Amino acid sequence: MKKLRIDSFPEPVYITRPLLPNMSHVVKKLEDIWKSRQITNNGLQHKIFEERLVDILKAPYLSLFNNGTTALMTASRVLKLSGEVITTPFTFSATPHSLTWNHIEPVFCDIDPVTMNIDANKIESAITNRTTGILAVHAFGIPCDVSAIQEIANKYGLKIIYDAAHAFGVEVNGVGIGNYGDITMISFHATKLFHTAEGGVLICSDKDTKDYIDIFKNSGMKNEENIGMFPGINGKMNEIQAALGLLILDLVEEDMRKRKELVDVYRSRLKDIEGISFQKDMIGMRYNNACFVIRIDEEKFGKSRDCIYSEYKKYNVFTRKYYSPLCSEYPHYRNLPSSDHRNLPVAIKVVKQVLSLPLYGELSIDDVEKICDILIEMRNV
Ligand SMILES: *Cc1c(COP(=O)(O)O)cnc(C)c1O
Repeated sequence: MKKLRIDSFPEPVYITRPLLPNMSHVVKKLEDIWKSRQITNNGLQHKIFEERLVDILKAPYLSLFNNGTTALMTASRVLKLSGEVITTPFTFSATPHSLTWNHIEPVFCDIDPVTMNIDANKIESAITNRTTGILAVHAFGIPCDVSAIQEIANKYGLKIIYDAAHAFGVEVNGVGIGNYGDITMISFHATKLFHTAEGGVLICSDKDTKDYIDIFKNSGMKNEENIGMFPGINGKMNEIQAALGLLILDLVEEDMRKRKELVDVYRSRLKDIEGISFQKDMIGMRYNNACFVIRIDEEKFGKSRDCIYSEYKKYNVFTRKYYSPLCSEYPHYRNLPSSDHRNLPVAIKVVKQVLSLPLYGELSIDDVEKICDILIEMRNV
């Protein structure tokens, strides 16, 4: 084996690490919960957490969930979607699966070559008389073209769900990301920027929809007397998750600041490497730097994305090929008419180029410098 000029990292460097509060603060919170003897079902922690999130996310109404997937499944139910829903193939499996669980056919639409989000210019041609909605994803926390998508939805009377799994704290023109579309889901999974170990939230714009969501996620029960109005699900967040969320809320702003610093280092070190590109910030957006994704042009760089991914492992760096494979390539979806490669040329090209590099607040600037040095070394070898 060829001798590496740069030493590998002594400990494995993963793509992310969960943001964790001080253990003594957790113990204090748990003591409060133990004293109350209420560990789930809309307890005190849950109430406080929801109230704080309304402020932080600049979201009118929201409802907490035990994970993002149940939240997404509930969203299509609440909006009474059926038939076909137009979505992106460049996402995590939970996006199309949430439709399939509701007997809705996902219709894959190609993505924009820059934002890697659903291409609003291609949505209209995917609409049929069975289409009831659009499930768009703010991939990696980068906002979709929300105004173009809203215009199409208005024109055809479609509902919009945004899978904003990665978009905690993102704003478009000073407006919280959850204010676009009919319902927005943010995931609080441990791999996301902000988390409650497992968890998620649905954001909506009116009280009636929130009340409906709250009943739906509570097994369809409004209260002790009113039971079984809807075929609900148990999607409730428990007190321990909510307490963890409250503690992590105190840390997340600082984490975002550190991430921004690290992203600036990545960008300045990688900007002149031929064959490597990444997204630039657009005016009017508040980003959260949930992920740092590079794109590799194999011809210009001289090595493929898969090769870089494997080489990084030799240095103890574990990157990820999110979101590869495309959902339209899954055995369960690949025979759908919309999964035809001719329908998704951009997604098929992009998915072979993307690589997510390690990014989390605890990573040091030196670590990021070294991850960049390794990439530069790979190009020169
Ligand atoms: C993480 C993620 C989800 C699912 O969230 P969970 O909380 O893990 O169920 C859905 N969509 C996307 C794009 C995600 O990244």
